Amino acid sequence: MSDHTNCVFCGIVRGDIPAIRVHEDAATLAFMDIRPASPGHTLVIPKIHAPDLLAISEADLCAVTIVAQRIARAVHQALAPDGIRIMQTNGAAAGQTVFHYHVHIIPMQDGQRVGTHGHEHAQPEQIKALAARIAAALKS
Ligand code: 5GP
Ligand code: ZN
Repeated sequence: MSDHTNCVFCGIVRGDIPAIRVHEDAATLAFMDIRPASPGHTLVIPKIHAPDLLAISEADLCAVTIVAQRIARAVHQALAPDGIRIMQTNGAAAGQTVFHYHVHIIPMQDGQRVGTHGHEHAQPEQIKALAARIAAALKS
């Protein structure tokens, strides 16, 4: 399903690389960003490798987009941000650093300056606590 051996997100799909997961289904996986731009920053990916929007199948694009909406709703319910930024990059010139299609869900607060990417690895315990709240909201 995800056999691109050098792709970090394929490694997460296979379970070779650890990730703090909040949702999984047949076509998609959602997990916490390792360097969050803000607390609760979540990524949604297709399980089948596609580098970007230009390459992803329509079926996987639909599946990822629907899950991104569910995650955004769960983030809204669990964390009550003032806003939610949805970001998706295509090509290094656009800021893409992992070349496996993904949608960013980034909680935003009034008056808070948030870059497109985080700069530091957040504490795993802090990320796990946020993930648990998002996962619980997904189930409610
Ligand atoms: P891009 O720059 O391609 O739009 O976004 C890639 C995102 O993946 C970045 O926000 C980065 O922090 C995140 N990321 C990179 N490597 C890993 C990893 O191994 N695990 C997790 N959970 N996130 C990662
Ligand atoms: Zn991949």
